[in-house]
Amino acid sequence: MIKLTFLGSGCWQGIPAPFGDDEISQKVEWDSKDFRFRTSAHIQTEHGKNIIVEATPDIRLQSWKFKLGKPDAFLISHWHYDHLFGLMELDWYTEKNKLTVYGNSITKEWYDSRMSHINVDFQVFESYKPFEIDNVRITPITINHVEDTDGFFFEDMTTNKKIAYLSDLRGIPIKTAELVKDSDAIITDATYLESDISDDPTHLQKEQIIPFLRKLSAKEIILTNIGSYQDLTHADLEQKFPQYTIAFDGMKREY
Ligand SMILES: [Zn+2]
Repeated sequence: MIKLTFLGSGCWQGIPAPFGDDEISQKVEWDSKDFRFRTSAHIQTEHGKNIIVEATPDIRLQSWKFKLGKPDAFLISHWHYDHLFGLMELDWYTEKNKLTVYGNSITKEWYDSRMSHINVDFQVFESYKPFEIDNVRITPITINHVEDTDGFFFEDMTTNKKIAYLSDLRGIPIKTAELVKDSDAIITDATYLESDISDDPTHLQKEQIIPFLRKLSAKEIILTNIGSYQDLTHADLEQKFPQYTIAFDGMKREY
């Protein structure tokens, strides 16, 4: 069985945004569903291995708030700050503890050039070449965002349940779409669900998100990477999009 916990459900800024003057950032409270760390997830495998998807700059508080056990592996989708640079928070931790990080070759280049003093075993993966941790087969899958971005396709080899974790994106190639079709859950990017920032070509824009979601087939479609730009609360989003699950920090699933 895979136990999945959302450690964060916010876009790159998180909610509240730094010095955020939008309505949500102004009124959000620490323990509400509108408080969102940068998007990340924890997966616990059958025999208790701890996998963390993305190393966000919030990892210090995420590990504390969700009482995480020592991580066996981090999976990094791409080199953007909110996905990779949390490794910088682990300088002292990695002096004392072994840590394996999986990322693609471009992510490795960013790691090498900016944070190679962080002592990790960096394993470079290739898209569509699966590897295994405990009972979970993990396939990095190409998604369209910035050059060389991968999502992750998780298959529990005991239960045969399948989860697709599609990080920041503006679309997915056909090969990825075919692989993730009919998953038990597809977790995907809703950065601009209700707001249009048209000068950001790396994410789906407001009018593109629902048509993209309609093409996906899964038992549950979970929206994450939520931004505060839309001035809608978690409750507002749930009411407006009842056909989708709106992620929140601490949300749990078992597969
Ligand atoms: Zn990104």
